[in-house]
Amino acid sequence: LKGQMMEQPLLLSSLLQHAERYHGDTEIVSRTIEGGFHRYGYADAARRSRQAANALSRLGVQPGERVATLAWNGYRHFELYYAISGSGAVLHTVNPRLFAEQIAWIINDAEDQLMFFDLTFAPLVEKLAAQCPTVRHWVAMTDPAHMPDIKVGNLLCYETLLEAERDDFAWPVFDERAACALCYTSGTTGNPKGVLYSHRSMMLHCYASCLPDVFNFSARDCILPVVPMFHVNAWTIPYSAPMVGAKLVLPGSALDGASLYELFEREGVTFSGGVPTVWQALLQHLRAGKLKLTTLKRGVMGGSAAPMALIEAFANDYGVMIDHAWGMTEISPLGTYNRPKGKHLSWSVEGRRAVAMKQGRPPFGVEMKIVDADGRALPHDGLAVGELLVRGPWVVSQYFHVDKPTLRDGWFPTGDVGSIDADGYLLITDRAKDVIKSGGEWIGSIELENLACAHPDVAQAAVIGIAHPKWDERPLLIVVRKPGTQAGREDLLAWYEGKIAKWWTPDDVVFVEQLPLTATGKISKLQLREQFRQHRLP
Ligand code: ADP
Repeated sequence: LKGQMMEQPLLLSSLLQHAERYHGDTEIVSRTIEGGFHRYGYADAARRSRQAANALSRLGVQPGERVATLAWNGYRHFELYYAISGSGAVLHTVNPRLFAEQIAWIINDAEDQLMFFDLTFAPLVEKLAAQCPTVRHWVAMTDPAHMPDIKVGNLLCYETLLEAERDDFAWPVFDERAACALCYTSGTTGNPKGVLYSHRSMMLHCYASCLPDVFNFSARDCILPVVPMFHVNAWTIPYSAPMVGAKLVLPGSALDGASLYELFEREGVTFSGGVPTVWQALLQHLRAGKLKLTTLKRGVMGGSAAPMALIEAFANDYGVMIDHAWGMTEISPLGTYNRPKGKHLSWSVEGRRAVAMKQGRPPFGVEMKIVDADGRALPHDGLAVGELLVRGPWVVSQYFHVDKPTLRDGWFPTGDVGSIDADGYLLITDRAKDVIKSGGEWIGSIELENLACAHPDVAQAAVIGIAHPKWDERPLLIVVRKPGTQAGREDLLAWYEGKIAKWWTPDDVVFVEQLPLTATGKISKLQLREQFRQHRLP
């Protein structure tokens, strides 16, 4: 017996239509690349998105074709999110922090038809243009007065394009399984791999991400995604904010502690999300200036392991609850989110702390399991450690343009290693490729880093494996000290005493001024391994 309810496909355009109808005057505020701020409401954004959609069709973009962006978080990028996907084309957000050769490779693999770029990337576009034959037009996301002076054929101006168009575009209705967006993983080994999201997968992910035990978004929130719109769709915040009618604050290219702080206070931001290095920089700015956060209440930290010391500093000193989350480009990205259960509320401080430092539990829509080297399922007892596999409606089933199957028996192998406890809380101990193999046993670098970060003199820490003649590999701790502090090698090694098994203690400690970051702002273990390849352990 078939149900008798309306069959309306889940399409992204409906999010903006909803926000226009019911939250038309709720603001989107952007720090612009040209300088200064831009502000308007969802109704204005919707109107301009329709103009942009008309421009795309005038430029001959067909359904399913890829249209790329090289852009920061800003209102024009937001408009394109809807104009491109809403009209049936595929939004390809390119990460500008990758090497130019990698970017060219990605654009060619995606066969992008148009490229919309922020002024920051005009010099990059000048380099790319000759190498990317599929791109018919390069569109500078600015007004005629700020057009860049670059030698690129087929250069267009965003505002000129929009000005020529009517604002009455009818969003097409099509199969919700159609592709809406494409995002490439950073590809720490080999070429980047494309993940092609569908309208359905994105919409379901969006509903899940708004749940109370996830972002808990509402129409009373003012949300500032620090996570870039070129990195897994800014964790889908450009979709979930209009879904609930929240105010949106887009920081442009200024992602340092001082600029973010200014925006938080100026706009009354209540929620923000970013990788740990971003929160770390904000914390340093707050401490250095003895500042207070007067409106920020909650946040999310993910993308790499969140040091407990960082979570606690925000909770205890600033009253801001930053939740730990785990995800991947391949999972849209939400995999797990860390919020307590009812029973945890009566637990001791230590007990709650032990739960809070984990990566969290899956929302409805994500299933997880861990397996041993032979693929046998391991118990969810919080002790057994194995490779993590996931499945669900917003998990990738196949990489774009890759023939080899991506799944293993219907599950996506994440390449992450960890344990799952009886309550479903995941603890990631490492990426499979970062695990330190010492005498046939595994040492998880994340726990060693977490402990180091709790030392009062440590600002940032990373642990990598260094080749060892007897043990295969041994851990090396690499530390950035807080300004004006002195802790030495022996202090840090002594810090581990009694906190971990003795054989886990790093063999050596080195101090550096800064740690290398990946294109998504995470500490790059790959570069560290390169840098310390010749390091001699004592
Ligand atoms: P990339 O880092 O390659 O740009 P992703 O952002 O998709 O791509 O990275 C996903 C990976 O980041 C995960 O597989 C995992 O290794 C790591 N990661 C994400 N969140 C966390 C977390 N909370 N704790 C530990 N590792 C994390």
